[in-house]
Amino acid sequence: MSEKKPFLTLEQAREITRTFPTPFHIYDEEGIRHTARALNRAFAWNPGFKEYFAVKATPNPFILKILHEEGCGVDCSTDTELMLAKAAGFGGGEIMFSSNDTPASEFARANDQGAIINLDDFTLIETMEAACGVPETVCCRYNPGGDFAIGNEIMDQPREAKYGMTRAQLAQAYRVLMQKGAREFGLHAFLASNTLTNAYYPTLARILFKTAVELHQETGAHIGFINLSGGVGIAYRPHETENDIAVIGEGVRKAYEEVLVPAGMGDVRIFTELGRFMLGPNGALLTTAMHEKHTYKEYIGVDACACNLMRPAMYRAYHHITVLGKEHAPEDHLYDVVGGLCENNDKFAIDRRMPKIDRGDLLYIHDTGAHGFSMGYNYNGKLRSAELLLHRDGSVQMIRRAETPKDYFATFDFAGLTFD
Ligand SMILES: *Cc1c(COP(=O)(O)O)cnc(C)c1O
Repeated sequence: MSEKKPFLTLEQAREITRTFPTPFHIYDEEGIRHTARALNRAFAWNPGFKEYFAVKATPNPFILKILHEEGCGVDCSTDTELMLAKAAGFGGGEIMFSSNDTPASEFARANDQGAIINLDDFTLIETMEAACGVPETVCCRYNPGGDFAIGNEIMDQPREAKYGMTRAQLAQAYRVLMQKGAREFGLHAFLASNTLTNAYYPTLARILFKTAVELHQETGAHIGFINLSGGVGIAYRPHETENDIAVIGEGVRKAYEEVLVPAGMGDVRIFTELGRFMLGPNGALLTTAMHEKHTYKEYIGVDACACNLMRPAMYRAYHHITVLGKEHAPEDHLYDVVGGLCENNDKFAIDRRMPKIDRGDLLYIHDTGAHGFSMGYNYNGKLRSAELLLHRDGSVQMIRRAETPKDYFATFDFAGLTFD
């Protein structure tokens, strides 16, 4: 069971809000390093193991730098993510470029930065070749189609996913790429998102390992690495059981020993591209209760809105909320916790049992470290918040300032517009 314990106390939060007004996202350096180390330990049996953190989850160079120090690379999928990776100090071999529907210019930039290109589609071979030639090392993304099941449970439907190549295209891609000079190949697949079972990676690994053995036998391609991509989830809800990364690593090792080693492929490196697992629980959105409204329901209006955290509005995703200082108070009130957008889906919680909330209370919205700030937007002219980093010594650094109206208006030049 996950405990849903904030990494901040009320006192710490009050102290921080003296300098930085809510709302803001705050990240926990200690937690980030701890998670990265646990992952690296879980896969230490594979000497070439590397995590390529999915930049889209938390595109902040200060965060990327911490992960770099822990031995991680980055997974990029756009021009700007590549620029971030460069600024944060990631060089050749430390960047995976897992894009789709890719413009030619982005292949060129990825190649210039020494990124490993992960091709989403057969037709992109031509785009890539025209943009930057065919690199010696290339990865291909696999989509096995059908349903992806673990035991009797259907986890997701790859046949409905826009990503990856069919099995036949994969073999053809390897052959064509070899003719054009590629020498080392990778195999990648992302078949289910936010999985809460230690069996996801091992099941996926077994599929990819078997496919890699077959592809090697069919085409003669040298397969240097297998990329398990993202998808290892986190326990957003209090009653859920967290994934155990050590058990996951051990499950992948077992599949490796049973499938790859007997096929003479015991030198294959394992890569991951985790986003949510690395950062999700290590970030929180802090917001202040501003208003209470009593109509057909009880509402608490906060100073954050869906522009700061889109997941509840977009997926009806659950994010646990702790009222700081009331961790042990009885949950005897039923609230909708809402933001100020003119959109009725702007609700962080619906019919949630919580302690009595008073105006001025600080609400800690859990698990916003991945796909939180990064999915932010500007609807209703709402401005993006600051991002803060809680260091191990307890100090707090602003790693991105909050937007101002000037940022919002920066993309047009209209006479008479002033910012005061
Ligand atoms: C989004 C994404 C990831 C990270 O997914 P998580 O669910 O955050 O682990 C990894 N690889 C690719 C290609 C992605 O698109």
